[in-house]
Amino acid sequence: MPEFDLLMPQTLPEALEMLGDRAPDLTPLAGGTNVIVYMREDRHRYKMLMDLTRLNELHGVRREDGHLVLGSATTIAELLTDPLIAEHGALLRQAAAVFASPLVRNRATVGGNLVDASPAADTAPPLLVMNAEVELASQKGVRRVPMDEFMVGVNETLRQPEELLVSIRWPLPATRSAGGFSKIGLRKGAVCSVVSAAVMVEKDEDGLCQSARIALGAVATRPIRAYAAEEILVGQPLKPQIIDLAGQLSAETVKPIDDIRGSADYRRRMVEVLVRRLLSRAAQEIVPRE
Ligand SMILES: Cc1cc2nc3c(=O)[nH]c(=O)nc-3n(C[C@H](O)[C@H](O)[C@H](O)COP(=O)(O)OP(=O)(O)OC[C@H]3O[C@@H](n4cnc5c(N)ncnc54)[C@H](O)[C@@H]3O)c2cc1C
Repeated sequence: MPEFDLLMPQTLPEALEMLGDRAPDLTPLAGGTNVIVYMREDRHRYKMLMDLTRLNELHGVRREDGHLVLGSATTIAELLTDPLIAEHGALLRQAAAVFASPLVRNRATVGGNLVDASPAADTAPPLLVMNAEVELASQKGVRRVPMDEFMVGVNETLRQPEELLVSIRWPLPATRSAGGFSKIGLRKGAVCSVVSAAVMVEKDEDGLCQSARIALGAVATRPIRAYAAEEILVGQPLKPQIIDLAGQLSAETVKPIDDIRGSADYRRRMVEVLVRRLLSRAAQEIVPRE
C-alpha cells in the first residue's frame, strides 16, 4: 500500500473546511471498498484521504416534508434493516440484498456507490426510478442535483472536488405504485451486475398507468432511464402486449459493451427480459394503500 495522509474531521463544517482548503488533493473516504481497492491496484494515487465515518450529519434515515432522506454514509447493510427503508425504499432494499457480500455491505456506503459512479452501481437504478436527488454541500452552501443528472459518465459525476455528498432524498412512493429491482451477475452472490434494472409504475383510479419509470445499469457509460419505453406505458392498461413493447424499447435504448462479463448482445436481450419481468410483477402488485 502506498503511504497517504489521513484527516479525521469530527463534524460536517470541519470536513467542509478541510475540503475547501485542500481539494482537489483531499479525497473523501467512506467505506473504502472502492478507494482502498483502487489504491492497492495502483489505479489511483491519493495524496490525502479524509475519513467520513465520524460525521454524524451523514448518518441516519428520516422522513421530511413528504420525502425520505438518507444520510450518504448509510451502509448497504443498514438499508436491509432500517424500517423506514423497508416502508418507503423497497427497491433500494432489494438492491442491497444482492449487493456484493455481507462483509462488503457492512463497509460500503450509498454515497460511495453513487460518487464512484460505476455504470453498474447497484443503488443507482432504484434511486433513478424513485426520482431521487442528491444533496451536495461545500463551504459555499448546499445544492440538490437530480439523480438523472448526477452521474455523467464512467466514474464521473457533477460533484465538485470541494463538495461532500451529504444525503439522498426521494418523494415517498405514491399510493397505487409498485416496482422492483433485479440484477444479473455471473454468480448468485458477491458479483457486479452484468445487467441491472429497476422499474416503478403508478396506476390511476381506473387502473391505467399514470406514470412509469425504468432505469438500467451496466448497459451504457452511466446508469440510464429508458424514457421512450416509459412514455408508451402512460395512459395504457399494463397488459402483456404493451409491457412487451416497453421491454423491446428499453433494449433499443441501451448502448452496452462487450466485456469479460457479457456481450453487448446478451446485455441487450437481458434488458428486455428484466424490464418485461419487473413490469409484469409490478402491474399485478399494485393495490391501494391505507
Ligand atoms: C468485493 C467487492 C464487491 C462489490 N460488489 C458491488 C456490488 O455488488 N454492487 C455495487 O454497486 N458495487 C459493488 N462494489 C463496489 C463498492 O463496494 C461500492 O461502490 C460501494 O458502495 C462504495 O462505497 P464506499 O463507502 O466503500 O466508498 P469509498 O470507497 O469510500 O468511496 C468511493 C468514492 O466515493 C467518494 N465518496 C464516498 N463518500 C462520499 C461522500 N459522502 N461525498 C463525496 N464523495 C464521497 C470517494 O472519494 C470515492 O471517490 C464492490 C466492491 C468490492 C470490493
